[in-house]
Amino acid sequence: MIVGIDLGTTNSLIAYFDKEKGATIIPNRLGNKLTPSVVSFDKDGTIYVGDTAKERRITNPKETVEVFKRDMGTSKTWKINEKEYTATDLSALVLRSLKEDAENYLKEEVTEAVISVPAYFNEHQRKATKLAGKLAGLRVERIISEPTAAAIAYGMNDCVDNTKIMVFDLGGGTFDVSLLELEDGIMEVHCVAGDNFLGGEDFTKVIYQKFLIEKGLEPELLSVQTKNHISKQAELCKLELSDHMSAVMKCKVDDEILEMIISREEFKDDCEVLLERIKKPIARSLRDSRLSIEDIDKVVMVGGSTRLPLVRSYIATLLKKIPDYSVNPDEVVVIGACMQAAMKERNEAVEDLILTDVCPYTLGIGIQNLNGSSDIYSPIIQRNTTIPYSRTRKYVTVYDYQKEIEIQIYQGENRLVDKNLFIDKLTIQVPPNKAGKESINVTFTYDVNSLLEVMVKSNTTKEVVKKIIRSSEFDISEEEAEQRFAELEYLKLPPREQEENKLVLFRAEELYEELLGMEREIMGQNISIFEGILENGDPEEIEEAREQMKGILARYF
Ligand code: AMP
Repeated sequence: MIVGIDLGTTNSLIAYFDKEKGATIIPNRLGNKLTPSVVSFDKDGTIYVGDTAKERRITNPKETVEVFKRDMGTSKTWKINEKEYTATDLSALVLRSLKEDAENYLKEEVTEAVISVPAYFNEHQRKATKLAGKLAGLRVERIISEPTAAAIAYGMNDCVDNTKIMVFDLGGGTFDVSLLELEDGIMEVHCVAGDNFLGGEDFTKVIYQKFLIEKGLEPELLSVQTKNHISKQAELCKLELSDHMSAVMKCKVDDEILEMIISREEFKDDCEVLLERIKKPIARSLRDSRLSIEDIDKVVMVGGSTRLPLVRSYIATLLKKIPDYSVNPDEVVVIGACMQAAMKERNEAVEDLILTDVCPYTLGIGIQNLNGSSDIYSPIIQRNTTIPYSRTRKYVTVYDYQKEIEIQIYQGENRLVDKNLFIDKLTIQVPPNKAGKESINVTFTYDVNSLLEVMVKSNTTKEVVKKIIRSSEFDISEEEAEQRFAELEYLKLPPREQEENKLVLFRAEELYEELLGMEREIMGQNISIFEGILENGDPEEIEEAREQMKGILARYF
């Protein structure tokens, strides 16, 4: 069984292809389709993943990690309970939890997966994702770009040739626009653009700020708990505004209940700056692919924040087209990934759809500048070039009797070399001659596996120097992978039947921190009783106590 996995920044999902039902999302141990991409570590080696981990964010912030997808492929580590974890390790723990849920649901072992990643993920990030799969005991059959998966979920692979699709993805913390074109049954991602720091959280912040201003509250004078409480209420108010024309936000601040009424119209006006930020990447993606708004045939919406009516109407007005949001925006990527997995399994259908990708950043070399100022960057492969791709550029010697030329390879968009990311270098010998008389050809070849081959040839001696650039960090050997696998093995997910008890307990502990005075004392007593029953009670007593505790919590949430 090959499953499809959407390893998201905020939430992750897993799906399989059922012969009768088609793409089917597998519920997690709590019965939910969305598993928050949050991991929390207990001192005894227990790890919590998903909703249970999310509940520990406030009570155990130092042991809980979220939004680590942003650091995928980097060397950043989180030190938790004296051990270091990379974003790859944390993702592996999320994947392990999803795999276990799928196995429990399907009653069979799940060993292979297609995992989706943002289209702009570079080679390090893609390899890191594959490695995360491996560390979770999954063979990653294919990494698929999220917009491509979304387009497959909308059946765009069956559209007529030259259909141009804009995939608009606004999630919790990121925004991506991709332009895809179907050509000869090939889905090509032409171009990606986005804003890594724009998402649903920013829309929530607008309401949060409005509340503080309207109620004259100084954030510096508020406790962390109060700020968290206001944030939570702002999020609920935002969701309410997606269904109703106005919403009431109620918060308890210093034992006083404060209320704010906000209308959709007001919210829209307050979000003007955010909507402007949405416009920029759209304009850039059209410019990069030399298309105009009129050329776009279909607009597909992905990500929870595309449920915001103000976003939908803004896009419809801007693109002069009603966007398609018939597939649940939280599920569309995992559905596409699982359909791709099914096509892969059946073999026959894969031929219908060959996926190609783009090189997400410009790749080029540094050219020595004789004026003494910073070296100039000479791009060889422009960003958003469809890969595989190969291009050759000619360069000449810059000073008399130069014996060698050093080629410094960079990735980035800046005109000045220093402002881009240095990747590697190589050197070629040239016969000493007058400046400008000796030339070399530099060829960059970028393939679908995100490997860059740099070939330099002296046009006089015909000598060739070559280098294949790959991320050594994530090309770890079988033994190294095995070793890391073993290192993560000691971490155990709690027994499935305890998950809901833990969720209720953590929720109660979080509420305890929010409450004050008598209410807090009573909640503390309830927690102690519940803990005692969890420790010593029989299954029936535990279930009864849990339901009672849920009833108490329901009064507050
Ligand atoms: P994602 O990263 O795609 O899971 O999107 C998560 C974001 O979607 C969060 O910021 C949520 O607040 C937002 N979201 C989910 N449902 C809604 C809704 N009905 N209205 C507005 N925003 C929503």
